Parts: sequence; structure tokens; C-alpha cells
Amino acid sequence: MTNSDYKLSAGYPPALFDKKINNKIGYIHSILTGGTLDGPGIRYVIFFQMCPFRCKYCHNPDTWSINTLGIKTVDSIYKDIVKYINFFKFSGGGVTVSGGEPLLQAEFLYELFKKLSADDINIAIDTCGYIDLTQTVKEVLSLSNLILLDIKHLDSKIHNELTGKDNAKVLNFLKYLKSINKKVWIRQVLVPTYTTSEEYINNLILFLNAYKNIIDKIELLPYHKMGKEKWEKLGLKYSLNVEPPDKKIVDKIKKQFENNGYEVLVS
Ligand code: SF4
Repeated sequence: MTNSDYKLSAGYPPALFDKKINNKIGYIHSILTGGTLDGPGIRYVIFFQMCPFRCKYCHNPDTWSINTLGIKTVDSIYKDIVKYINFFKFSGGGVTVSGGEPLLQAEFLYELFKKLSADDINIAIDTCGYIDLTQTVKEVLSLSNLILLDIKHLDSKIHNELTGKDNAKVLNFLKYLKSINKKVWIRQVLVPTYTTSEEYINNLILFLNAYKNIIDKIELLPYHKMGKEKWEKLGLKYSLNVEPPDKKIVDKIKKQFENNGYEVLVS
């Protein structure tokens, strides 16, 4: 499978992943120092290549394909991260791994997280949750402080329509987080006609109530079209034909969650 074949398909190339990647080498898309959107405080955000989903509203479709330009070793990233330790301490921040889907490179994360946790650096994982719960993934989760989990849709068919995959693994992932009592921020993209109706939000709240003891915050992400240009540059067809939600609708949804005892962030 060539890189361009891969770009058009869902999932990651298992042969490449299993056989060629040394567990200390990661395929990185980009790094953002001083991030404030992906977890608490000032954060060093590492965006990983590859994702199992093809969300219709993805604003990072350039992370989907794998290329060797962004290969980095655990040591090189770690050496860069420690330069920012004072910023983390001062702001209550840390390191966030995002993507793409960072847990597809769990062996790399495991090596990196062992070093970060030895330095008491806060670790957050921004994930779509469509992940097999291998022993390495479990160890990576256990070394992290916070999981930012995207719920794309509660209805599996609509989830498939939005992302290209059903939601069974994601829901199972959330169950596992509950079983290990891991702190979570639930992220919901607010996409008109898909995730903004009163009925959908009520169902989501009822569903999440079973996980209330691990949910620290709800993060609402109003849909925007900022990724559209990237899709076009990559030669991909952007098929989602909806407008961003009105502020009134976002405020109403925020209230619905708050009335049920959730702390809500709108990003
Ligand atoms: S999970 Fe995130 S990175 Fe992957 S396709 Fe969806 S929005 Fe894009």
C-alpha cells in the first residue's frame, strides 16, 4: 500500500505499524508549544499522524496519512518538553497528545509517558476512543492524568455516517475508563442536524450520567468550517453541508448540561 493509497482509506497500515516502527520512534504531524485548548493550563501539544476515523467535519485531514517527514524519537521530544516545565508548573498545564489518533502509536506513548510521569508532568490524551484495549494501551492510559474523549454520536448508524466507523469501540473505551476511575473531559462537536437537537442532548446527558463520577468537564465544540480549505488542498471532497450553530443554540445546550450538574466549557 502506498502513502497515497493509505490517504484515501480508513484506518492505519498494520503491516507498516507492526513491523517497521521501533517502539521509540513516533510518526508526528506537528507540535504546538503554548497550547491552551487541549486540557488545563499551558500545554505542549503533540499531534500524531494517522486516524481510524474520517470525520466529515475534520479540521486536521492532513494528519490522516502517514509520512516519514515527521519521525521523531522519544528522547528528542522529551528533551524539548522539559524546556517548558516551568510553564507547566506556573499554569497547571502539561503535555497533551492529540492527532490524528495518538493511541495508534501506543508503544511510543508508553516510552514517552514513563519519562514524563517520572518528572511529574501532567499528561492528557485527546482521543477518538476507537482503540483496541491492548496491554500497552492500558498501560498508557494508566500513566495519563486526563482523557479528552470525543463522542461523535450516540447512534451507531449516524456515527458511521459521520466518521466511517460504528461507535461500539468508543463506548467500550469509555466503559474501560470508568472501570479504572480515569478522569475524563467529554468533547461533543455541535453539528446542526446531527448533534444539536434537544432530544439528542437529553439522550446524551442520560447516557453520560452513568459516567458522572469520572467526568470532570463537558467540552462543547461548535462546528466550524475552518478545515474545508485543507480538504480542498488535499484534493478531498468536503461533503458536510451544514452551517455552524447559532450562539443561542450553543448557550441552550450549555445550560442543559449545567442544569444536570456538569461543568461546561465552550471552545
Ligand atoms: S477523529 Fe479527529 S482527527 Fe480523526 S478524522 Fe475525526 S476529527 Fe479528524
